[in-house]
Order: sequence, then C-alpha cells, then structure tokens
Amino acid sequence: MDRKSDQRKLTCRAAKSDGSPCSVRVREGSDFCFFHNPAKAKELRAAQALGGRGNRASSLPIDAPEFAAETVSDLIPLLVATINQVRRGELAPNAGTTICNLANSLIKALEVRDLRRLHDMEQSFPESETKDGLFDPNAEQGS
Ligand SMILES: [Zn+2]
Repeated sequence: MDRKSDQRKLTCRAAKSDGSPCSVRVREGSDFCFFHNPAKAKELRAAQALGGRGNRASSLPIDAPEFAAETVSDLIPLLVATINQVRRGELAPNAGTTICNLANSLIKALEVRDLRRLHDMEQSFPESETKDGLFDPNAEQGS
C-alpha cells in the first residue's frame, strides 16, 4: 500500500478531461501539477483568458517575472528554462515554439542595434584617422 502511494507522489493526482490520470510530474510535497492545482485555478484562468486558448493552458502564470534581454547572451537562460518547461509539461509545446520564434526576432533586432552602434562609432572617428588606415596602399609608394 505504501509503495504505491509513494509512486503516486511523483505525478499529479488529478484526472485529465478524458478521465485518464494526469502524468505531469510534481514536486515532492505537492499533489497536483500547476494546471490541476486547485489553489492555482484562479491564476490559471487568468492566464488562459490572456492567452485566449479556451481550456488548454499554454501560458505562464500571469505573475511570471518579466523577462528582459539586453544582449543575445541574456536569452540563453530563457531558452534553457523554456526547453525544460516544455520537457516537463509545464509549458505547452506551441508556447515553446512561440518563445523560440520571438527569441529569434529579438536576436535579429539586437544584432541590428549592435551593428548600428558600431557604424555610429566608426562615423564618429575623425576622417583623417580612417584615411590613415593600416592597409593604406599609397603609404609605401608615396615616400
Ligand atoms: Zn495534473
């Protein structure tokens, strides 16, 4: 009896809409996954309303921390977390795909911003410095 209840502890105790048991893993000490936790029901409904996806949860909780990326490297922890959330069933695969697409757009935007900054820095150098480059082909011939 005990060994069975020990095994049950690892997965959510709720039943899915088709009646089969929910197979989402839960943390030690909790009986339900995020999507079936009665204490999180209100939060979940708010997240679903925001996502507009009916009864299928695919959004993070409404109070999930804001994500900000100033550099491409800042995206690494987000992408790693998203990969793990999808793998654990905490985030719907289509939400993971959306995050991946948005991350790609953000990478392109950051690259364009960085190229523009580099261009602006080059433009701000005095013209004489840029003309006396290391590879000036006329430097040797002139003397
Ligand atoms: Zn569950």
